[in-house]
Order: sequence, then C-alpha cells, then structure tokens
Amino acid sequence: GTVLIGGGTGFIGTHLCKLLQSKNYDVKIISRMPGAKHMTWHDLEKYGIPSGTQAVVNLAGQNVLDPMKRWTAGFKQNVWNSRIRTTMSLTEAIINTRERPKAYVTISGVGIYKPSTSVEYSEDHQQEEFDFFSKLCIAWENSAKLPENVLDCRQVTIRSGVVLGKNGGMIKQLYIPFYLGVGGPIGNGEQYLPWIHIDDISRLILFAIETDGLKGKLNGVAPQVITNKEFTNSFASALWRPAVIPLPKSIVNFIFSEERAKMITEGQKVIPKRTQAVGFNYVFPDINSACEELVQS
Ligand code: NDP
Repeated sequence: GTVLIGGGTGFIGTHLCKLLQSKNYDVKIISRMPGAKHMTWHDLEKYGIPSGTQAVVNLAGQNVLDPMKRWTAGFKQNVWNSRIRTTMSLTEAIINTRERPKAYVTISGVGIYKPSTSVEYSEDHQQEEFDFFSKLCIAWENSAKLPENVLDCRQVTIRSGVVLGKNGGMIKQLYIPFYLGVGGPIGNGEQYLPWIHIDDISRLILFAIETDGLKGKLNGVAPQVITNKEFTNSFASALWRPAVIPLPKSIVNFIFSEERAKMITEGQKVIPKRTQAVGFNYVFPDINSACEELVQS
C-alpha cells in the first residue's frame, strides 16, 4: 500500500521513507515544493487523499531551533502554522475521503510536559498549557483528532524527544564543535535530555502504522533517561574527544532568545511507559550504543 507523508522531505521524513521503501511500501510525499514524486498542500486540499493510501503521517514543521531565524512574532507564527495547518488539512482530508486509510500517525513534542527535575512523565500525565511550546503541542495534538464517528482510521500521536541521527537535527549542529574537542554541556548539564535514535523514531512510526488496534499517545523517547551532561560525555567519548567546555546558559539565551532556549537549557524526565507496554522494542535503548552508531562514517 501507499503511505502519504506530510513533510516527508525532512530529516525524519527522509529516514522514514527509506525504511518504508525497504518494507515494500510506496511512499508519497506532501511538500510545499511541487515535484515528480511530491504533491503539494494545495493539491491535498483540491484533490484529497490519493486513492490507495493505506496510512497517513505528518512530519511537517518549520525548524524551531534554526539559529539563523530570530524568535520574532512572525517566526513563531510560522512555527505554529506549519504544524497546525498542515495537520488540520490532513485531518480534514481523512474525514472527507471515502476510501479511509487505516492509520493516521502524527508527531508532537515532549514540550507538552513541564520541565522539572523531579516529576517523571508518562503518557498518562494530564497535560496543561504553561508556555508557547505546551500550547503548540496541545493544539497540534488536537488538530489531529478524528471525530468519534470516524471509526475506520486509527489515530496515533508520537510525542518525540530530541531525535539523534547523523544527517540532521541536534547531532548535525554539534558534530563539528565536538569533533574539534570544544564541545561540552549546556549550562550545568543537569537538565534531562529526552532523546530517541532516528532509526527508533522511524521504526516507531512504522509500528504505529502496522499495529492493529493501536491508537492514542505514545512517548517517542528511549527507555534510558539521561541528562544533558550524560549525553555530552557519551557523544564525546564515542568521538574520543574531551567535552569539558560548557556552553553558558546566558549565551544560549542570547542566540535563541530565552523562550525558545528553554528547549535546550531545561528538560523533562519522560519515560516511554505505554510505548513499551504496547510491545515496541528499541534498537538503541541506551545512549552509548546510539552514540557509537552516530559517529560511524
Ligand atoms: P525538518 O526540519 O527536517 O522539517 C520537516 C519538513 O517540514 C521539511 O522537510 C519541510 O518540507 C516542512 N516544512 C518546513 N517548514 C515548513 C513551513 N513553514 N510550512 C510547511 N512545511 C514546512 O523536521 P524534522 O524531520 O526534524 O522533524 C519532523 C517533525 O517532528 C517536526 O514537526 C518537528 O517539530 C517534530 N520533532 C522533531 C524533533 C527532532 O529532534 N528532529 C523532535 C521532536 C519533534 P517541504 O520543504 O518539503 O515543504
């Protein structure tokens, strides 16, 4: 069958497409850019879900931690709309199609949980709005909800931690400073760093597509809970480099602006309680095995 992927051109999307193709799925991408293998968001609104679509995934979203983009009202609007509007378009299209896909998988973030050094968050935690990112995640999850009378399509939301992979995201930004031996923890490094390896987040999306009866929220984080400092030590030692130069919180606040910098200067202790209970197995459950893979060329 065909899997339709909003934002399938991105870091996670590219990896997921390869995994799906290796399992003999056809992949169709929705992108802002028209192209031979792509449909645009405008095409989706006009023509709806392509016939033969077995599952729909949404991974679209303006990169929040782009250091070249200032944290302005306009940029925040892009961050918001690129997630909420794309998800709403897909939800509408699923409601309006006669030939329902059997699964609808969307992503959300661990930013739905309030940073804390004591609370442990599983999927059961009652969410509340406390800042921009928690509001965004709640709206994002709500925009993926299908009405109760749509019984033939399962909706799964994966609350992803920081995705660790060679070709994008956080590792791409950290690789050179760490390789040069000038990497280090952010602030005192005591903040939690909810993380998942790119192979595992892609496999979890596939698991959500393929597991009959599975619906609702899943924490997309590795079972090993670590702090920023523990990540730093593991990544640096996999590269055989020291990691002793801390990046002061004040500099991170200056580069990203405080509201957004919280994503890296603070963290949540998130456990994949339900993800494991429903039977998902990780290839990279611990940070050392993940970092070993990340530094292989
Ligand atoms: P990318 O930054 O690689 O972006 C994914 C795709 O989103 C892009 O390829 C692009 O597709 C589309 N996009 C970008 N900006 C916009 C915009 N303004 N409007 C509409 N579409 C846009 O993201 P990732 O693959 O890293 O992440 C995918 C999703 O997972 C995102 O929503 C992200 O928030 C979420 N997530 C990611 C984490 C991570 O560590 N990477 C952690 C937790 C959640 P195109 O150019 O083809 O239109």
